[in-house]
Parts: sequence; structure tokens; C-alpha cells
Amino acid sequence: MFPSFFEMNREILLEPGENSFFSVDLQEKMVSETVSIFYHPNNKQIAEDILKNERKHIMFLNQFYKVNLSPEIIFFLYPSKESMEEAFKRPLPHAQCCFVPIKGDVSLVTLTALISSKSLNQIMIHETSHIFFHILTGNYEVDNISQVMPLWLEEGLALYLDSRYREDMQKIIANRLKMLNENNTDYFPDLMDLYTYFNRLDEHQEFGPKGQMAYAYSFFCVTRLIYSYGIDNVVTFIKALDPEKNINEMFFSFFKLPLSHFNETIKKLVLNADERMVENFYKENFKNVD
Ligand SMILES: [Zn+2]
Repeated sequence: MFPSFFEMNREILLEPGENSFFSVDLQEKMVSETVSIFYHPNNKQIAEDILKNERKHIMFLNQFYKVNLSPEIIFFLYPSKESMEEAFKRPLPHAQCCFVPIKGDVSLVTLTALISSKSLNQIMIHETSHIFFHILTGNYEVDNISQVMPLWLEEGLALYLDSRYREDMQKIIANRLKMLNENNTDYFPDLMDLYTYFNRLDEHQEFGPKGQMAYAYSFFCVTRLIYSYGIDNVVTFIKALDPEKNINEMFFSFFKLPLSHFNETIKKLVLNADERMVENFYKENFKNVD
């Protein structure tokens, strides 16, 4: 155990009452300048991979956002789902669960060693994208349910960026559209309602069907926004966001389009999608991703 670490990072490891995400299984520690990984002795190789790759992701995101950030990030690499559940003190939806609860200047990413080396990079850039977004926008969580920045923008960006490490994006695009179209009877995500944790409150399980739809919808919103206005403009918009400013007004002043109209455009795009649209959407946005 690491008493000094607990002292230093009390606010992220301890919820206001008592809940620490730390586990007794995390006996080893590996550090670089700004990244620390706590892991089980059996998972040294994965910990090394995380340390090596995280540098690459941070460099990429600095280039993407044209900034020079070196965020302090702590990884808890649990040996099993059970170990992670014990640390969270509740059942979790799946073994690849990752969270970035940000408190203060330190970000915590939690994951299990069951992750395949293929999905490791995808998950790492996704979570690191959340960290950059929080730093750049001043986003913060309110009562563990809501946050001050639109979640469609944050999750959509993370999904846009993690597509670098996903294979067969065309199929993923088709599947996401299929899900949105098949399940729209009682719920269709609306950008104006996506400020919270994807309405998970009325679902029994995190990342249930509504949450999945909201993720998929967010992906199309951000990808379309970037396609229509260019990465530079979207990045400038993100960097101009501020918890004190009204997001609808900000959106309108940057894109000369009310957020509600943009929402209607995306809804139409998604509802009218056919095979050709999938193919075009893939070609336009992901074929030449370097
Ligand atoms: Zn995410």
C-alpha cells in the first residue's frame, strides 16, 4: 500500500465519504514523468504497454488540439473484473469498464488487465481524450450525474478519436446507425437533453440501450460537425467553451446555426441512412485517417 500516495491524492481516491477506487491487488507501481500505473505483479507487461503508449496518445492529442498539455494521469489496472468491482464496491457492466473521475488536477483511469492489446490503445486514447476535454473546457461533474459541458460533444469526440484504433469503421458506422433506427420507438437522443450521463438514471444498468444510443448519436454529431466545419474550427470552438458561457449561444456564434437545427440535421441523416450513406460517410470521414 502507498500511504503517501493516499495522502497526496486523497481527493481523487476518496469520495467525500469513504469510497476509494484503490484495491489491495494493485501492489506494484510504475511511473513516468506524469503517468503512474498501479498494477498487479502478473500484469507488468500490460503496465509497460500503457506507459509506453500513453506518451504517444498525449502527443497526438496535443497536436490535435494545438496545445502543449502534460496532464497527470493515474491508471489503476485491476487484475480482474471482480477486483475492480471490489474497488468500486458495486457490480459493473463489463470487464473493460473505464472511468475518468476527475477531481482536482489529477485524472484517474480504471481498467482491467483482461483487455486485449488491440482494444488497449482504443480505450486509452478514448479516456485520454476525456482528460483533454475536461482540461480545455473547464468541464466538471455535478453530483456524479450531470456535468457542465454537453456530453454529446465530449463522448462524440472521444469516439471520433478512438476510431483511429478501431478496425472496420464502415461496419461500426452501419451498426451504430442500425441501433439508432431499430430502437427509436420510445427514445431518440436529443442534443439538448444530452447534458447528463446519457439519462442512465432511468436505466437499471450503466451503458444500457439508451446510453448506447446516446453514444452512437454523439459519434454522428461530432463526426458531422468536423466534416462540415473542419477540425480547426471545431477545436477552436472547444477551446472557447467555458462553464460560465451558454452553450447554445456559443454554438450559434461559432457555427451560425442553432443547436436545435444541427440536431434536426443529424436526426434526418441518421433516420434516412441507407447502405450508400454508410459507405459515403465512411469514405468522407475515416478512409484516410492517418
Ligand atoms: Zn467516453
